[in-house]
Amino acid sequence: MSSVKEKNVVIVGGGFGGATIARELSGKLDPSKYHITLVTLRPFMVNLTATIRLTTSELGVEEKKVIFPYDKLFHKKDVGTVKVGRVTAVEASEGSKPGCVVLEGGEKLSYNVLVLAPGFRWNGPVSLPYTEEETRAHIDSWREKFKTSKNIVVVGGGAVGIEFSGEIRDVYPDAKVTLIHRDRLLLNDFFPEKFRKAIEKDARAGGVDVVLNDSLEDLELKGTSVTLESGKKIDADLIIPAFGGKPATDFIASSLGADSLTDKGLVKVTKTLRLPAYTNIFAAGDIIDVQESKQVVPTYFHASVVAANVLAVLNDKEPKREYSKVPISMCVSNGRNRGLIYVDILWGIIFGNWVASFAKNFLFNLMPKNYGQ
Ligand SMILES: Cc1cc2nc3c(=O)[nH]c(=O)nc-3n(C[C@H](O)[C@H](O)[C@H](O)COP(=O)(O)OP(=O)(O)OC[C@H]3O[C@@H](n4cnc5c(N)ncnc54)[C@H](O)[C@@H]3O)c2cc1C
Repeated sequence: MSSVKEKNVVIVGGGFGGATIARELSGKLDPSKYHITLVTLRPFMVNLTATIRLTTSELGVEEKKVIFPYDKLFHKKDVGTVKVGRVTAVEASEGSKPGCVVLEGGEKLSYNVLVLAPGFRWNGPVSLPYTEEETRAHIDSWREKFKTSKNIVVVGGGAVGIEFSGEIRDVYPDAKVTLIHRDRLLLNDFFPEKFRKAIEKDARAGGVDVVLNDSLEDLELKGTSVTLESGKKIDADLIIPAFGGKPATDFIASSLGADSLTDKGLVKVTKTLRLPAYTNIFAAGDIIDVQESKQVVPTYFHASVVAANVLAVLNDKEPKREYSKVPISMCVSNGRNRGLIYVDILWGIIFGNWVASFAKNFLFNLMPKNYGQ
């Protein structure tokens, strides 16, 4: 069991949600009375939004803005610790009793208040390994693959697949890029038809071959082409899986009960972002069951609500801050200088290249800037 100060806050996940909550609390909690432990899988932060550009080539984004240490995360240094590890279970009693999280290997960390923010698990180039050395090798290896491939098939026409296609065509205009998507339009029906059509038009204008209503089941390349579900054959020397991010919530279901999650693996929360059966467990970021797009802006808003409510619980008060959804917005880049943004205000506004490139660069810089670089 870890050493116990008067009250411990444990946060699972050091991404946009967990790290933001840790930072916000670290400026407000007295180190002689409280301790924050941020448990996360890697010894460095990952700015997921820039991983597509980072793994495609060395152009357009500096590595230090995508992966960087946690050393400046806490406002007051002695109030918090970053613990590298994987949480495999939570031992909790219903209500407000203290509990503990269990790490792979068996170590236990006790908490008075727990925050769950483990995000999603991803496939392909953006799924970075767990050490710096392996991550550098992973980045170099993917960059080399993109550089030497001529017929690249990107599977999955959500934002990740669309952005990979655009990045590749921007850096390697001689490469043939085919983007395959199951649905009749790119993205999903969370977004209005006019934006989905505009995205498709923009991708095609960037030289991407878009194949809709089709799929590739076997992602192992066995020759010089692949055959889609429809029977269509496409030349291929590289396949990029860009689909199927899944909530990293298995340990929550096995510990807190399957009914703490929806059938999609998202965590059910109240308006204060608390788990209904536990008055001292909160959740934030991509994993929460709120009908919105899984993105950085809503995650920042969750973080601010959760930080305020954690402070209330630590002070034996009822948490009062409620989360209200932010308007849907989505920025999809098409290489370094193009892209589109949709914002669900007024009649649903679409902005073009200049605004999209500016917003993307702003986002790439937001995380390193906010965490003290
Ligand atoms: C390739 C890509 C591009 C994106 N681009 C954009 C964009 O342009 N704009 C935008 O708004 N959004 C974008 N997003 C979405 C955005 O990155 C997420 O909405 C945001 O990161 C969610 O924050 P989070 O804290 O919930 O999860 P994450 O940032 O994923 O952080 C989760 C953290 O939890 C840790 N973790 C997971 N499981 C465990 C465990 N069992 N024990 C301990 N630690 C654990 C992980 O190591 C990680 O540090 C993108 C996502 C991807 C994958």
